[in-house]
Amino acid sequence: MQLVFASSNKNKISEIQSMLPETIQILSLEAIGCHEEIPETAATIEGNAILKANYISKKYGYDCFADDTGLEVAALNGEPGVFSARYAGEQRNSDDNMNKLLDNLSDKNNRKAQFKTVIALNINGKQELFTGIAEGEITPEKTGTKGFGYDPIFQPLGYKETFAELSLEIKNEISHRGKATQKLINFLKKTL
Ligand code: IMP
Repeated sequence: MQLVFASSNKNKISEIQSMLPETIQILSLEAIGCHEEIPETAATIEGNAILKANYISKKYGYDCFADDTGLEVAALNGEPGVFSARYAGEQRNSDDNMNKLLDNLSDKNNRKAQFKTVIALNINGKQELFTGIAEGEITPEKTGTKGFGYDPIFQPLGYKETFAELSLEIKNEISHRGKATQKLINFLKKTL
């Protein structure tokens, strides 16, 4: 069967393809001729994942899944949340985003935070949601050079290192995206 992953990130697509049986073929947006920007205008992470999956299913007629991720910081009432990518502005710059977050937390004692990924899957006329959460804390300063986004200032629960200091293998095992993806894969293997 064919399943569209509503993402233009080639790494994400080949990674998930490698975890699935060959009977499930993952198609990229490019492969189905979707070159436009998909709206991400919902107020929640779930809402954005659903918007993206529904957009592809309705417009292109494919079974499809889409993911959305946000960093939720307790002392900032869940900010930056859906605004994680553009927290410091439309330039979507990771350093600017981290600096803004560190500034906003400078007078707070509670540094608890979590990454949340939601995957919305539209399959056989039904919708399933898979959620993955990684709990942790925002460190006082940036450490490490691996990964992307907020990785240098996120220390997952039970680890002394930030995500940017951990290997990709370990990050995938404990991360929000890794957990949500594993739930999706288990569902697909069981269902198809
Ligand atoms: P997306 O929904 O996967 O595009 O994620 C939205 C934003 O959240 C990204 O632009 C990053 O700023 C941040 N983000 C998502 N996943 C991670 C992660 O694993 N580490 C650090 N930042 C992340």
